[in-house]
Amino acid sequence: MQLNYIANAPVRSLSGKTIPVVDPSDGQVFDEIQRSNALDIDHAVQAAHDCLDNVWHKVSAAERGRLLMALSRKIAENADELAAIEQRDCGKPTKQAKADAAALVRYFEFYAGACDKLHGETLPYLDGYSVMTWREPHGVTGHIIPWNYPMQIFGRSVGGALAAGNVCVVKPAEDACLSLLRVAQLAAEAGFPAGAINIVTGYGHEVGDALARHKGIHHISFTGSPTVGTLIQQVAAERHCPVTLELGGKSPQIVFADADLDAAIPAIINAIVQNAGQTCSAGSRLLVDDAIYEPVLARLGKAFEKLRVGPATMDLDVGPLIRQTQQQRVWDFLSDAQVAGIPMVAQGQIVDEAPDTGFYQVPTLLRDVPVMHRLAQEEVFGPVLCAMSFRDEDHAVELANATQFGLVAGIWTQDGGRQFRMAKRVKSGQVFINNYGAGGGVELPFGGVKSSGYGREKGFEALYGFTSLKTVAIKHG
Ligand code: NAD
Repeated sequence: MQLNYIANAPVRSLSGKTIPVVDPSDGQVFDEIQRSNALDIDHAVQAAHDCLDNVWHKVSAAERGRLLMALSRKIAENADELAAIEQRDCGKPTKQAKADAAALVRYFEFYAGACDKLHGETLPYLDGYSVMTWREPHGVTGHIIPWNYPMQIFGRSVGGALAAGNVCVVKPAEDACLSLLRVAQLAAEAGFPAGAINIVTGYGHEVGDALARHKGIHHISFTGSPTVGTLIQQVAAERHCPVTLELGGKSPQIVFADADLDAAIPAIINAIVQNAGQTCSAGSRLLVDDAIYEPVLARLGKAFEKLRVGPATMDLDVGPLIRQTQQQRVWDFLSDAQVAGIPMVAQGQIVDEAPDTGFYQVPTLLRDVPVMHRLAQEEVFGPVLCAMSFRDEDHAVELANATQFGLVAGIWTQDGGRQFRMAKRVKSGQVFINNYGAGGGVELPFGGVKSSGYGREKGFEALYGFTSLKTVAIKHG
């Protein structure tokens, strides 16, 4: 049984209740986590405040950096174990689970180096004054994390908050907590003081809500669905607590007739099958110049038919979805496609070794999806790619911007002028030209516009969100 981790100690929930943990590859329960409640959040927030007031505020920026670096090294030493935990908990193929552990190492390494580089400015002002700005930590930050990339999102969110001088209370997703509970133990071994990183598990509407409402939380970093993001924002607004919202996407891959298809096709496939399509930045809409629509679909169709789906440990192209309700959600979208007469170009295949009790879904390529159909508008969060064609640049921009989201856009063209025009006109937080995701480097600020959220995490930019700016003006005698 897994326990919460508060003030560097494993703790049972005061509720006395637990939640079963299911392996998505076979649908079997293999562990349980604490079903915490508001009292557990109180306990964690108190521990965080004790740490902040008695220890953390005295730790120099350079020393914080050393602690983050020590944790980065601990994670690296235990990366295989963490990847194995994540693989079973989330159903990630081995390569993906290892990549997530490697990203976590890199986040703490990056933010270790950033701790003592964050500073304010001096400002020119009236004669007789000296004016400066200080970047101060918010204090105790709350982190609500989804199940699709627990380690990566912990790294970017908690790594940045600690680097800026905050202490953290973390609520992982009920479907995927195990790796983060282990990381909290590693942080204690690395020398983090008790209360700097606290993990409280449980359901969103119980413990997540309690965290968002807690008056002792001074900033909320939320990554998850737009629906819950709205609730968090409302709750936070009641006490004017700042929030960073990293929400969903319906990101377009835009392929012009002059694109290098040898580079584009594998990137387009990877962007929709990675993590079984359960990625906020999944390239789930494919917009193709009508001059090359048919040949592109033909090439993609052949590639989709070769994609193999199976248990996480088989390390195939695609693992299982996180849970049965997610599988049902994808089935509902596909049955809507059938009802609407949306043509299916191709599907991958589930291997014989996959247990019937696992939550598998074959990658599916659909074509001629009407731009306003829910398949082209809503996050499916499964390996379903929706293709449509465009006439010219203006039409491509119109289609690309025709959803409530604005997270990522991929643009494939050799024309330099068009690269810049498109990058300017597409409404999204990230634009990738002749690539998709740029390898996910931790240095690159990340976030959305429109219903994809606001605020930025990753990179140095994140540190501004995890601090508030104080202006200090001294009048000389
Ligand atoms: P979700 O919104 O259902 O849950 C996210 C977290 O919020 C979980 O920890 C959950 O327990 C908690 N939660 C749920 N209800 C809550 C409530 N009422 N109050 C407080 N907390 C609550 O999202 P999910 O299904 O776990 O994750 C998938 C979503 O996350 C997708 O929309 C995806 O695009 C988005 N996402 C965005 C990014 C990004 O960087 N923009 C990254 C990963 C995932």
